[in-house]
Amino acid sequence: MIIVMSSDATPEEIKKVEDTIHELGYTPHAIVGVERKVIGAVGDERGKDRLQSIETMSGVESVFPILKPYKLASREVKSTDSVIQVGGVAIGGPAIAIIAGPCSVESKEQICTTANLVKSSGANFLRGGAYKPRTSPYSFQGMEEDGLKLLAAAKEVSGLPIVTEVMNPREIDLVAQYADVIQVGARNMQNFSLLKELGKIDKPILLKRGMMNTIKEFLMSAEYILAEGNNQLILCERGIRTFETATRNTLDISCIPVLKKETHLPIIVDPSHATGHWEMVESMSRASIAAGADGLIIEVHPDPVKAFSDGPQSLKPEKFARLMENLRPFAELMGRTLR
Ligand code: PEP
Ligand code: MN
Repeated sequence: MIIVMSSDATPEEIKKVEDTIHELGYTPHAIVGVERKVIGAVGDERGKDRLQSIETMSGVESVFPILKPYKLASREVKSTDSVIQVGGVAIGGPAIAIIAGPCSVESKEQICTTANLVKSSGANFLRGGAYKPRTSPYSFQGMEEDGLKLLAAAKEVSGLPIVTEVMNPREIDLVAQYADVIQVGARNMQNFSLLKELGKIDKPILLKRGMMNTIKEFLMSAEYILAEGNNQLILCERGIRTFETATRNTLDISCIPVLKKETHLPIIVDPSHATGHWEMVESMSRASIAAGADGLIIEVHPDPVKAFSDGPQSLKPEKFARLMENLRPFAELMGRTLR
């Protein structure tokens, strides 16, 4: 339910409404970014009609149901775009956020070199996986805690904030010590116990769309994180599985306008995993910006042939530099900027 407080509601009246929501067994979520105070009450769908009685409380203007199955993620609850601030960089808003770096952290030399090079081309964040969700148990699984330490070293030399993946709830505390943004990979989009735990921490989350999930399922997963209280959430389209085999996945460009209509959350695109081929990364980056994406996450490796994972889709740093140069005027044409 959405509870709209009248514009002159006092803090005491707001507090009373929030207490009543709690008493009825629901959780109040204050919605920021709108002119008047709006409170979203979420919880068990079955007894929601009891919340209607809040209409009679003083300071309350109206109470109405949220029709979408995703509540806190929906534009019904918050009509204005959310902007997630990460160490002075905004994700959402007019500037396109660029996250770049290797698929996996492999060595100090590899991650620090990449960090400095992508920074000099204008990237805002360094990506790199220390825990890797691999299809085969015999493939490189990531450097784990040692990899996190190397990410810290790369942050130190480049000044770039870190985006890195967590695979299970046991490692959240450790990863959170090193990450500025915690990534949930496509294969974990519906790992609900992981999502619930990430909803309890105070750290931005980058939630990737599962390769076989609908937009509605994607937003329901976002809801798991928001419902626990963490609203620092960024969505990422990374391609879905279709009958097509020419590309690793099929980049669902049309999910961007759909998501923009349905949710206030920022949405970024991963053209590297979406296509699986470095040559296609630039055109899909342009397409993503044209469709309204708020950022890009791009794999860059100093020597893709020797990469431990995802070499074929990784750009060399020189190619990444050129892509950034080419994207800058294009973004401006689209009414956006690249920092
Ligand atoms: C990655 O970012 O390296 C990764 C494993 O991505 P995804 O979860 O989208 O496959
Ligand atoms: Mn990868």
